[in-house]
Amino acid sequence: MDAQTPTTRRVLVAKPRGYCAGVDRAVETVEKALERYGAPIYVRKQIVHNTHVVKTLEAKGAIFVEETEAVPEGAIVVFSAHGVAPSVHEEAAARRLKTIDATCPLVTKVHNEAKRFAAKDYDILLIGHDGHEEVEGTAGEAPDHIQLVDGFDGVSGVTVRDPEKVVWLSQTTLSVDETTETVARLRERFPNLIDPPSDDICYATSNRQAAVKQIAAESELVVVVGSANSSNSKRLVEVAKDYGAEAAYLVDDASFVREEWLEGVTTVGVTSGASVPEELVEGVLAKLAGLGFADVHEVETVKESMRFALPHELRRDLRAG
Ligand code: SF4
Repeated sequence: MDAQTPTTRRVLVAKPRGYCAGVDRAVETVEKALERYGAPIYVRKQIVHNTHVVKTLEAKGAIFVEETEAVPEGAIVVFSAHGVAPSVHEEAAARRLKTIDATCPLVTKVHNEAKRFAAKDYDILLIGHDGHEEVEGTAGEAPDHIQLVDGFDGVSGVTVRDPEKVVWLSQTTLSVDETTETVARLRERFPNLIDPPSDDICYATSNRQAAVKQIAAESELVVVVGSANSSNSKRLVEVAKDYGAEAAYLVDDASFVREEWLEGVTTVGVTSGASVPEELVEGVLAKLAGLGFADVHEVETVKESMRFALPHELRRDLRAG
């Protein structure tokens, strides 16, 4: 046996993991709105893509709706962290809704880039997943200028008016490696393709992927805590497999962890998506401990300190008391 090979069963927990600054802000926005205005508070779409977070807020009086037309006239509606198209703001205004916009500032940054390049009449290639709420919101800023590129397969179908005036932007929660490859393929077709002014894939997505790469290299199995509709959580599963884990699974909570996954496994990696409360990770660690994996080590790759202020409309009302 190699001197480095662990002889006891152990768990490597990635850090950073779990809540990012945008999710923290969005969840706190709904909680503070419930405290300030009282229930019900309507929320358009899932405030963040996590089943447990949504259920917890529902229990406190939040009502989740798919579209603003389901919100009674004059009521309060919170827009989710993923952002909305301008048309959604217009619909809300037409229904006289009081809106609180919990769009993550890093998503708003991409919206602003889209508006700026559209104003200069660029063709904008938005790399992202078709149907994802964030992509719909960003594309809605400049529908006449933006076309979606959904991974490598989308590259060949792109057509532009002027190859000298093309920029790419992206969804914030993509795989860093895959996006680099997609951009390289786009650049083969459009050598003068312009990069975004700063990375669109956000710090939290990049950091969680870097951290899972580190633990995946030493783990036979990686368990990613996150919901099935969470883009950044799904990417963590893919990255773990690409970087050495023989198997990687997405679980909503400890109840989804299966004992048979652990057969023949010495090291289990654990991480969680950016919309996942830490208590769900603790539940998974407790279950693993019960199955003989009680030796837990945290592997920290970078320290995070990002914080975002609550939406200004809510801060104003909180100040007013
Ligand atoms: S994953 Fe990134 S863009 Fe999305 S809410 Fe978190 S910080 Fe914002």
